[in-house]
Amino acid sequence: MVYCWKCGSQVGEQAALCPKCGATLRGTMGVQSPTGFELLRDDRSVQNHWARRVLAILIDAAIVVIVLAVIATVFAIPFFIGLGFPSTAVSAFPAWWAGWWAAWLAWASLVLFLYSFLAEGLYGRTLGKEIIGLRVERIDGKSMDLRSSFIRNISKIYWLLLVLDVAVGLGTHGEMSQKWSDRFIGTKVEAKTHMTIIP
Ligand SMILES: [Zn+2]
Repeated sequence: MVYCWKCGSQVGEQAALCPKCGATLRGTMGVQSPTGFELLRDDRSVQNHWARRVLAILIDAAIVVIVLAVIATVFAIPFFIGLGFPSTAVSAFPAWWAGWWAAWLAWASLVLFLYSFLAEGLYGRTLGKEIIGLRVERIDGKSMDLRSSFIRNISKIYWLLLVLDVAVGLGTHGEMSQKWSDRFIGTKVEAKTHMTIIP
């Protein structure tokens, strides 16, 4: 059975357009029977694709954390962004530390979003994706733009949204490389090099 990459509805095997949402079904673009999760369980190349995606975002997150730490140190504005060293009196409170980590996470997430949004909107990739050999592309073949990049990256402002974005993408029928937001705006991530992470 064949499904639309965008809305997940069942389509004819030779259909050029999705009868429900009108999406173009050019070539083999995301038309496949199983959901992303089923492919992830059974297909080594899909496992590799997502392992590379995870690696790329870990690299990007590490870059963001390092840059934030350097900025905080160099410009000595630690208290402004909640990175200050606590006095022994306040640091004894678990709630203080919870707040400290929450502030760190919130700033890092915001910067990760802004960085990914600009890098993918302008260059089609982040540094992490460049290193891992991944590229963000539009399904319609046009070059990446800031609007598409904004939509596909907005879930990065909060880790739980990103997890949901990926889970809904993989839980539905369609192109296996798409998060839900990719499906919504018509983008996908393509591997440009060969790399084996899961042997
Ligand atoms: Zn459709």
